[in-house]
Amino acid sequence: MPTCLRILPALLLVLLMLPGCEERPQFVSRSQLLMGTVVDIVVNASPDLAGPAIDAAFAEMRRVENQMSSHIEQSDVWRLSHSSGPVEVSAETSEVLRLGLAVARQSGGAFDLSLGGLKQLWGIETATPRIPGDEDIRAALQGIGPDALRIEGQTVFKQQSDLQVDLGGIAKGFALDRAVAVLRQAGVRHASVNAGGDLRLLGDRGDRPWRIGIQHPRRSGELLATLELAETAVVTSGDYERYFERDGVRYHHLFDPQTGRPARDCQSVTVVADGAMLADALATAVFVLGPERGMAFLQQFEAEGILVTASGEVLVTPGLQQQVAGQ
Ligand code: ADP
Ligand code: MG
Repeated sequence: MPTCLRILPALLLVLLMLPGCEERPQFVSRSQLLMGTVVDIVVNASPDLAGPAIDAAFAEMRRVENQMSSHIEQSDVWRLSHSSGPVEVSAETSEVLRLGLAVARQSGGAFDLSLGGLKQLWGIETATPRIPGDEDIRAALQGIGPDALRIEGQTVFKQQSDLQVDLGGIAKGFALDRAVAVLRQAGVRHASVNAGGDLRLLGDRGDRPWRIGIQHPRRSGELLATLELAETAVVTSGDYERYFERDGVRYHHLFDPQTGRPARDCQSVTVVADGAMLADALATAVFVLGPERGMAFLQQFEAEGILVTASGEVLVTPGLQQQVAGQ
């Protein structure tokens, strides 16, 4: 073989390795409206890899929404609420129901997947919210609780035929976990998926941790804390985004199943845990449990958190104290 042909492959290889011949990693970001909020995905990778990976992640989140939204006709949750007999659900929905029911039991019923009727009664997130009467609240709480639903394989049984299922406190977290799984599968190593302040991080930014701002529950546009984190989930439940006020009282969308009214002991709860589904369920549960029981509950799951009490006191779990100090 002539010498020039023999060195050709080596020459090609050198050319390919020269800077500029391969696509350099860079930050690529896109947003979509999903699950009632703006979802921002930021990926640090070559644009060739990042673009299709982000598209696939959004498609996966949309798929989850189509299974778990109570507003979408024929979704698993819609079918569950509209049926009196057992319902076959997807593997994903059964996974969410299983973790949700475990958190419901372990929180003594503070977290509850059967509050769909109560949510409709208050209509907090609708154009016409209302303060229901005691009798209506009592009726909406009838038969709810950790035992209201039972799941065997992918079949779900309701104890009471008119029970309304609601995965609003957990499904967004699951969708974040799925988005990150899809990004990872596509070869992405550094990404942030942010659904209106609830995040799941894949790796770090590339050269340093991600910086996450936690919204102050009473000072709009101001941060309560800034955390530097990688490869984790950060999810907040607060009373400051979906609420209405009447006679100086704030009525928000996080219900205490014991009273059928908005939980009163916290302004916000931010949970840092490995998975976003768990963090989402825990944030809602801790908000309802209140400062004392809630902080102890977090430790059971080895999760970290920042809680703002009703009076504005800020409580931080030991693992985050250094990060929050100096704010
Ligand atoms: P967001 O979706 O606003 O980020 P959360 O994760 O805190 O906030 O979930 C709030 C939603 O959780 C409510 O809109 C409702 O659908 C549902 N929810 C309300 N109270 C409870 C509760 N005690 N247990 C489980 N889910 C709840
Ligand atoms: Mg939640």
